[in-house]
Amino acid sequence: MNRHVVILGGGITGLSSAFHLSRRFPEALITLVEKTSRFGGWISSERVQVHDGDGRTAEIVLESGPRTLRPNAKSVLELIHLLGLKNSVITTPITSSAAKDRYLQIPELQGLITLPNSLTSIFSPPMRTLFLPHVLREPAKRRNRPDGISDETVDNFMTRRFGPTFARTFGSALVHGIYAADSRKLSVRAAFPSLWAMEDRGWGSVVRGALLPNPTVSRGDYDVGDIPDMMKGVSVYSFKDGIGMLPGALATHLRNQSNVELLCDNPISSLRVADDGQLEVKLSSGQMINPTHVISALPLPVLDGLLHPTSSLPHLTASPASSVVVLNLIFPQTQPRLHPSGFGYLVPRPLSGYSPHNPGILGTVFDSCALSAQDSNAANFTKMTVMMGVPIPLLLHTPNSSHCPEDYLKVLPEPIYTRTQRHDDCIPNPMPGHLRRMEELKTALAKGAWSGRLEVIGAGVRGVSLGDCVESGKRAGESWTC
Ligand SMILES: Cc1cc2nc3c(=O)[nH]c(=O)nc-3n(C[C@H](O)[C@H](O)[C@H](O)COP(=O)(O)OP(=O)(O)OC[C@H]3O[C@@H](n4cnc5c(N)ncnc54)[C@H](O)[C@@H]3O)c2cc1C
Repeated sequence: MNRHVVILGGGITGLSSAFHLSRRFPEALITLVEKTSRFGGWISSERVQVHDGDGRTAEIVLESGPRTLRPNAKSVLELIHLLGLKNSVITTPITSSAAKDRYLQIPELQGLITLPNSLTSIFSPPMRTLFLPHVLREPAKRRNRPDGISDETVDNFMTRRFGPTFARTFGSALVHGIYAADSRKLSVRAAFPSLWAMEDRGWGSVVRGALLPNPTVSRGDYDVGDIPDMMKGVSVYSFKDGIGMLPGALATHLRNQSNVELLCDNPISSLRVADDGQLEVKLSSGQMINPTHVISALPLPVLDGLLHPTSSLPHLTASPASSVVVLNLIFPQTQPRLHPSGFGYLVPRPLSGYSPHNPGILGTVFDSCALSAQDSNAANFTKMTVMMGVPIPLLLHTPNSSHCPEDYLKVLPEPIYTRTQRHDDCIPNPMPGHLRRMEELKTALAKGAWSGRLEVIGAGVRGVSLGDCVESGKRAGESWTC
């Protein structure tokens, strides 16, 4: 029988798996099913036209999801090469202020604090007291990972090695910036595997481990052409029309493949192994598909809700997900500028912890600095994005909360353009034990009724970055024999 693979979910993970499976198995039929009318999932880029009071206009790219990629993700470089996106790449060099200057806005202190970007900056106040002593003392601290633990929270880990002030100031801010989550709940091994590995490598010291060579050998099977040369000296990058160009190019490529079928506006309503052993994917249109293999690139709780009780799987609802409000703002250029030059700032957890009275700003990106080449006439406008959503669902879900995003506009001059988008459950938060649970899930998929015919991938499984998602799509179906 010819192989027929149904991919559930047309976010970047599902698109990446359709791309790679259609190349690896040209004789197979690949069907990608997406609930909404567009592909890309949380990736959403839009170009808007704005005017200031003096008749100046600009066309500005706004992102409501991911906005930058890091060049270390070879799986994405490969897509850029294979999809011919090279000429659309826009880079931020590591020497630019947008790459070097990153700030913290510590709720108990006034103004923005520059994060260390050089040896000398570590010695300037307040880093001299906030950062330096904790980092210098760490290598001398005895090995203190409790015997027998195989995971812990990011906050526990950082407190153990660098002390509670460092853990709250830097650890919570980092977690806000990537996961919009509470560092006291997130698994360090799943969220920051390199930190755990550095502690192992450095005989108990993260700093020592960071200074030693990393023996991990990454896989070399990426067809990247000359893209890595182009990424030399690059801190982050995007595309001329925003990150949305990546799923856009993938969808266009897939539409032209004779062995690929793209179904959008087509929610899946159930998935099960039928009594006769066949896989059964039911769409809400009533269509029924009986594929030989299924790849789920859906959020794990969504997959859980689709599974028939007789085909259930473990741990799909073990991790919660963060909700985020994204506020895009455009201002006319002002003198002095609205913000210092740099990438933006992150806000750590307040000393008093999260409370419904806390405004809930996680960080702000100074978009005009990092990727101004996306916009026409960018010099006359300032673009920034505020991310909100303290890890207290109540705050985001209270309809009459006085902490609505628009409140923040009061501390800034009148913007000429604002857009507020609320994303519910958009970033999975792996809890301690996540890696073990994902191994157990993999084992359950390999045997019994599924017997290796269903693979579960995506942001909720092995990492939330776009690089992780594209990589998981590339690896889908690797164990299938030809
Ligand atoms: C605000 C924000 C900012 C971010 N910033 C960055 C960044 O700067 N850099 C970075 O690397 N990463 C960033 N991320 C993370 C990254 O964008 C996500 O982890 C990634 O896009 C997830 O992709 P995915 O395909 O796994 O999941 P999703 O994007 O969630 O895709 C799942 C797809 O499944 C579809 N679906 C759901 N239910 C059904 C159904 N019943 N039937 C059919 N289809 C269904 C959905 O419509 C969706 O298209 C950010 C995320 C967010 C939310």
